[in-house]
Amino acid sequence: MKLHLYNSLVRRKEEFKPVQAGEVGLYTCGPTVYNFAHIGNLRTYIFEDILKRALLYNGYRVKHVMNITDVGHLTGDRDMGEDKMEKGAQREGRTAWEIAEFYTQAFRTDIENLNILPPDIWVKATDTIDDQIALIETLEEKGYTYRTSDGIYFDTSKFKDYTKLSHQKLESLQEGARVEKNLEKRNPTDFALWKFSPAGVQRQMEWDSPWGIGFPGWHIECSAMSMKFLGNQLDIHCGGSDHIDVHHTNEIAQSEAATGKKFFNCWMHGAFLIIAGGKKMAKSEGNFLTLDHAFTQAGIPPLVYRFAAFQTHYRKPMEYSDASVQAARNGLAHLQNQVRQIAGNGVDREDGISSEHKDKFLEAVNDDLNMPRAMAAVQELLKSDISDGQKYATILDFDRVLGLDLDELDRPEELPAEVQELADQRQRARDAKDWEASDRLRDEIQALGYMVQDTPEGVKVIKK
Ligand code: AMP
Ligand code: ZN
Repeated sequence: MKLHLYNSLVRRKEEFKPVQAGEVGLYTCGPTVYNFAHIGNLRTYIFEDILKRALLYNGYRVKHVMNITDVGHLTGDRDMGEDKMEKGAQREGRTAWEIAEFYTQAFRTDIENLNILPPDIWVKATDTIDDQIALIETLEEKGYTYRTSDGIYFDTSKFKDYTKLSHQKLESLQEGARVEKNLEKRNPTDFALWKFSPAGVQRQMEWDSPWGIGFPGWHIECSAMSMKFLGNQLDIHCGGSDHIDVHHTNEIAQSEAATGKKFFNCWMHGAFLIIAGGKKMAKSEGNFLTLDHAFTQAGIPPLVYRFAAFQTHYRKPMEYSDASVQAARNGLAHLQNQVRQIAGNGVDREDGISSEHKDKFLEAVNDDLNMPRAMAAVQELLKSDISDGQKYATILDFDRVLGLDLDELDRPEELPAEVQELADQRQRARDAKDWEASDRLRDEIQALGYMVQDTPEGVKVIKK
């Protein structure tokens, strides 16, 4: 079955064809590690994880690179403002390096808790400064750069088709020039490749360069790293939808200007997580929730958030509310119980995967990662009248994409001591053929919120 993905470059779904048969180069823009990731950011990483798992499910080998932005991402959109890392360091009274290390670890914990497969290659921007400088030098040799008092800039008017990803009208961007503060820029869309450390200020993160001491602009790292680690396998590049107009547009301009070749064939973007009133969740809006705070500390398993993300197609805004979390919590618990039940019914995995159900699931996944439809296929499978063994084998196969740890549900759960004691008493009653006591104990166990199943291997007690 063919995989179709929506490519922002052409604004439609296309059949996915990698540069090299059977292999995919995947680049996902990573976090700026000056603060915790919020659950909006994490929505984007869940979408990218589904993409990666879908590629693996389709039999591709995937080489996945993710950057860690630990320098140079300024608070303003267009190269004005402070460096977020240095600002974070000031806020917390720690060094920029400590801040980067701390929030990188926090991010790794978040993605682990969401069962997001880690990239094959993690790259810190600060570990590839030389590559970024080399790329800027190439751009300079080819005449795409100019110098201002605060840095080296890319002249976007020299790159034809600057708006091919954003599909914006250049004239509307020119209008924005009036509010631009940087009067030295030749065009409002021009962006910094290298920024100079301000005179008389020693930054915590700064490097020598052919142009003077300073630090790289934000966009150059993703171009340098993707080309360094993926070579010619520039298949899919993703991020949140806010990256279309500036970050990814600039990545394309500088990369294609430097190499003269197409930079990534497919660009995919996830829509935003929004909260009541339609506002996007953003650090700058001060309305953000972390996974740790909103889920782990609130006693809600983080996988509930992963499950919640499946309810909305990745290109549609996802609304976050207490009610949507509660619905996802119930939905996941229900699914886990359904799977536990079939797992408990003396499953014979020899039954194999149901190709009919797999086809439906794959059709949904391969239709531009349509997870709401894929979840409907999951329910159709569980309600069908095929054998429990077949259902179980099939759902575990689906879980390669879902990533909900459904294979762990047949492992015995830790029961509370009280429930375990009643279960042991009931087993003894059954061994002694005392059916009256056995029934009474069953009722007692059920009253505590557990289900009792009598299987050939003995009594099984699972949470309702
Ligand atoms: P940042 O750490 O700010 O570079 O953002 C990391 C990723 O999260 C990027 O791909 C952003 O596009 C994405 N992102 C930011 N805010 C949201 C949001 N509210 N919903 C979904 N994705 C977001
Ligand atoms: Zn990027």
